[in-house]
Amino acid sequence: VEFVGTRLDFEKRFGETPEDALSRGEYERVDAGMGCVLPGFVDSHTHLVFAGTRERELEMKLEGRSYMDILEAGGGILSTVRATREAGGDELKEICLGRLDAMLEHGTTTVEAKSGYGLTVEDELKCLRVLNDLEDHPVRVIPTFLGAHAVPPEYKGDPGGYMELVAGEMLDRVVSEGLARYCDVFCEEGVFDVEQSTHLLERAAGKGLSLRVHVDEFVDLDGAAMAARMGCHSADHLHSSNDAGLAAMNEAGVVANLLPGTPYALMDKEYPRARHMLDTGMEVAISTDLNPNCWCENMQFVVSLSCHYMAMKPMEALRAATLGGARSLRMGGELGVLAPGAAADLVVFDVPTPHHIPYMFGRNHVDKVIKDGTLVVDGGKRLGR
Ligand SMILES: [Zn+2]
Repeated sequence: VEFVGTRLDFEKRFGETPEDALSRGEYERVDAGMGCVLPGFVDSHTHLVFAGTRERELEMKLEGRSYMDILEAGGGILSTVRATREAGGDELKEICLGRLDAMLEHGTTTVEAKSGYGLTVEDELKCLRVLNDLEDHPVRVIPTFLGAHAVPPEYKGDPGGYMELVAGEMLDRVVSEGLARYCDVFCEEGVFDVEQSTHLLERAAGKGLSLRVHVDEFVDLDGAAMAARMGCHSADHLHSSNDAGLAAMNEAGVVANLLPGTPYALMDKEYPRARHMLDTGMEVAISTDLNPNCWCENMQFVVSLSCHYMAMKPMEALRAATLGGARSLRMGGELGVLAPGAAADLVVFDVPTPHHIPYMFGRNHVDKVIKDGTLVVDGGKRLGR
């Protein structure tokens, strides 16, 4: 972005009219009509790469069975692991491209994307190679290594043994191939404890990866405090986090990344305490958490959920969906803002004010998307594919 402002500001700054500048052919005119222009959404927590679907689990949830019940019955994440292991890299790439198209058409221009459904050395590498092979798509993809997403069936009852593999050979291969910017871990009761998580995060940081974590989603393991201690860029979920842990995160500059689609999909009545976090001055991001158990590609819906279930004001939610996400990736000057020097990732929403985005929920308000200065969505449809 070179300049943001009114016609009058433009003439003062450059000594010519916008029409003069356009007539030299250096710029292209895009008419936003009476819509609103916002920075592209930065969806800073997704599990983009997986195969298979789990629509049958909706009925199991309606019968009152919990996430952990379904997992113990051999469903849940482990069925996705089976399908993802069976899929080839080309198939997974096609799946990811389709999802990125949907995300782009809903106004997302940057996506953080995790591995975590392979859970063997080769299958985790396969998924990360796919995430690194999406450069032709307009959406910017930031890859995260999440080998520690679940304990695979081969290590049932032995999370410590599996963690040795993840923090050892698996991490070493990921780093030597340069496949990830971030390392992540699912720190939760029944998955990986704080000690195991800390071991992985220390090793990953020592090898130059930045850190983000899943913590305190179901049980408060004091994961927020761990995120602060480890200097994570982002700590995600935070449903059960205690006040002291959140305060430590705030002190350490860890972004609170909230995923309201997850309790919605799990039919959970408890949402993260966004109001408390905002009122204590924390930087908050919101993200889709796109995964087979929370299949949402639409950040506008996440903005609406954040207002309706987490008491965030519309402009707070829109900021969390743009600048908040960018800050969770330490890309705050570059993404998530409309300002000189930032990437020209812009979305034209066909609404009279931004407040309409959460207010009129359930439909796609995107008219146009401009990515790095190029028009890539027009009339709500992806161009050139
Ligand atoms: Zn997640």
